[in-house]
Amino acid sequence: MTESEIRKILEERLQALEGRIQAACQRSGRLRESVTLVAVTKTVTNQVAGILPSLGVSNFGENRPQELKRKFQSLPGLGIRWHMIGHLQRNKVAETLPLVELIHSVDSPRLFQEICKEAQKQNRSTQFLFQVNGSREAAKHGYSYEELEKQLTEMPVGNPLKFCGYMTMAAYTEDPEACRATFRELKEFAYRHSPQPELSMGMSNDFEIAIEEGATLIRIGSVLFEGLPGPGEEA
Ligand SMILES: *Cc1c(COP(=O)(O)O)cnc(C)c1O
Repeated sequence: MTESEIRKILEERLQALEGRIQAACQRSGRLRESVTLVAVTKTVTNQVAGILPSLGVSNFGENRPQELKRKFQSLPGLGIRWHMIGHLQRNKVAETLPLVELIHSVDSPRLFQEICKEAQKQNRSTQFLFQVNGSREAAKHGYSYEELEKQLTEMPVGNPLKFCGYMTMAAYTEDPEACRATFRELKEFAYRHSPQPELSMGMSNDFEIAIEEGATLIRIGSVLFEGLPGPGEEA
């Protein structure tokens, strides 16, 4: 695939995606500006990802610290804001903090403690979200609502980290309507506990429902990138 072929595909997909985001905003009486698109670039090459800023997309999500760092280093000077959206091992916290705008995936008290410690050490006001295991699947990372309730009462004072809200993932289903309850539960919890929380919820399969239920950040991979060259197929 040539660069101009890839660009054309991305343009068309972004346009279609944008139309769907706007329609979901309209249905739920929300402003388009209240929803940020995070393009999840984990399945594509630097070349593919590097085209996006010129098409108006500059928030990038990666789910592995190594791949985030690799892309961060390969795509300098494009004004990209990096989002860590996957499980972060504690031994990767120190090197990841300086690279990211927002960590969506603070998923346990132990990880949170490590991030607090590093933020203090690096004096870095990194923004973060607590990840909730909203679908209650054993294989998924994240706080239970009970654990999170407790965590919120034990927030450190004087740490430069900046708490911004919550993230969750719905169970994968053929019927996106089934995700609505998971998203609604997160929103209700969030608004009970925090003023103006960011809500990171919604992926390719269910982002329209997530927007209707209040998502402020949607994390979109396959709808944009399916079939495009991936890491390992680097030109
Ligand atoms: C891969 C990934 C996404 C994007 O998923 P798609 O279904 O491809 O849009 C979103 N969030 C997380 C945490 C991911 O790992």
